[in-house]
Amino acid sequence: MTIIGIDLGTTNSAIAYLKDGKPHIIENKNGHRTTPSVFQIDRKGEIKVGPIAKKEYPSYPRETVLEVKRLMGTEEKVTVTGKEYRPEEISAHILRYLKASAEDFLGTEVHEAVITVPAYFSDSQRKATQKAGELAGLKVERIINEPTAAAIAFGIENMDKDQHILVYDLGGGTFDVSVVELFDGVVEVKASAGDNNLGGMDFDNTLADYVINEFKKEKGIDLLSIGSEDEILQRKARIKEEAENVKKTLSTQTTASFTLQYIAIHNNMPLSLDLEISRTQFERLIRDKAESTLEHVEKALSDASLAIADIDEVLLVGGSTRIPLIQELVEKKFSKPLRKDLNPDEAVALGAAVQGGIKSGELDSAQGLMVIDVCPYTLGTEVVKYIGGQPMPGYFDPIIPRNSTVPITESKIYSTISDNQDSVSIPVYQGDDEDIYVKEEKLLSKDIILDGIPARPAGEEKIEVKFSYDINGLLQVEATVISTGKKKTGVIRTQLGVMTDQEVAASKERMEQEWNQSELYHEVKNVINRAEKMIDEVDSSERQKIEGLLANLRNALEKNDTVAVKKYEDELTDLLIELV
Ligand code: AMP
Repeated sequence: MTIIGIDLGTTNSAIAYLKDGKPHIIENKNGHRTTPSVFQIDRKGEIKVGPIAKKEYPSYPRETVLEVKRLMGTEEKVTVTGKEYRPEEISAHILRYLKASAEDFLGTEVHEAVITVPAYFSDSQRKATQKAGELAGLKVERIINEPTAAAIAFGIENMDKDQHILVYDLGGGTFDVSVVELFDGVVEVKASAGDNNLGGMDFDNTLADYVINEFKKEKGIDLLSIGSEDEILQRKARIKEEAENVKKTLSTQTTASFTLQYIAIHNNMPLSLDLEISRTQFERLIRDKAESTLEHVEKALSDASLAIADIDEVLLVGGSTRIPLIQELVEKKFSKPLRKDLNPDEAVALGAAVQGGIKSGELDSAQGLMVIDVCPYTLGTEVVKYIGGQPMPGYFDPIIPRNSTVPITESKIYSTISDNQDSVSIPVYQGDDEDIYVKEEKLLSKDIILDGIPARPAGEEKIEVKFSYDINGLLQVEATVISTGKKKTGVIRTQLGVMTDQEVAASKERMEQEWNQSELYHEVKNVINRAEKMIDEVDSSERQKIEGLLANLRNALEKNDTVAVKKYEDELTDLLIELV
């Protein structure tokens, strides 16, 4: 059974599979090699994903969701067409489209996938991604890191040489850098670093803000405050879309015009945007963000104990590495030409497909490749320290140091801090080796509570805390009272930003319903459109008949009643034929 590879990106996604020992991109239902990660559901319940949804975004911003990956692993909800969704539900809709595209392309059902995530994704972001796969009907065989996947795609073609490579991956919403060693068919990640909130979408937003400001300076009109709320939303969507176009143009040209006709009406006069943007201007706007990536490059190199001169090849991955300033900065840093032979949009999905092939056994060990990855951040707990005899809480105590090779299990022994203390809670934090205090925003879980500790004086009972970080980057925590052997294991189930099993089951049902409704609506859409048009062309008694049937049909659609939909569709079709 084929295990497909999926690069679930912030702005674009890609799918690939393994054939004859080599990874190949799977074209989506629209015949494209990448798919915009955009979801749309309209008032009638019709779902669109990918290129059509992206194209329609400026016209229907309230019905369309972009860049949902930024919200993965958070409790934030997304409102689309008045309905609330969790981020993983939106991602699941995108995955469902990708799965269906793969099934069409391969001519067989697909049930398993390897999904990639940014190396710097946290535990909850990874779990949310896994849940999204589950919701879409996919068994997520592995979660792998995007730069690692790119290194695999490179490694499979370049097995003959032992070398150190640096993967610089700047996509639509995230930045990762990984230092990788390739030797004897092994892809070993030495260190990863990155920023989950930096990517091409930030450059688009910066450019859009600049244009809006320039317009305000020149015309004294704030485009974000005139007109209705809906008009402002649509205007923002058009400006954002144009900002992305202009940004891309500036990757090959030194100037581009930012043009949007009739962007607003003010004092009964139509307003248009028409600016010339030079590459230099654009570079000035994004330089700080672009330069900040080099700090992460430094950190990854230093964690890998390597110097710039030790890097044999620098691989550029992610659509935003097409920006000349990015290439210039990286090239200057390494004083060597960059490897651009990997397709920056496809490498990650291709690597994921290779990992899928290793997992399914399609790639045997002779052709195969072994992948060794790391945990990019430090994982630890909160402890109380005695300072001047006073107990002070809030100290971060690392258990798994950053960039440890995974899988890894590490444990530490702690003592009770008060007399007769009968329970202890073990909060789990993500941090950095250098952190002294825990940071609230890095709290992964605080629901592991170990009770039943025998009543003894402070410090006499010992508790072992064990952290296991698996190859998917998922963490399991176990705490044991050493004197009694009493254990508590937490897979951190009720984690903030991650759906519970019950929520997954309920959401799966809703998704199923939504897609059924969408497909049903899609089938009768033409008849409805024809009927709506005809209403104005016929006399009142016929109009009443059409309206009656339309109401029945809409009602049946809302209830997802397939039999009734079919019945009213047939009746309406017959009536329309009669009336023509
Ligand atoms: P990815 O997630 O790797 O597909 O990267 C998508 C990001 O790359 C989006 O923000 C795109 O706007 C950006 N991108 C794609 N092509 C170009 C280009 N020619 N110049 C600048 N940015 C680009």
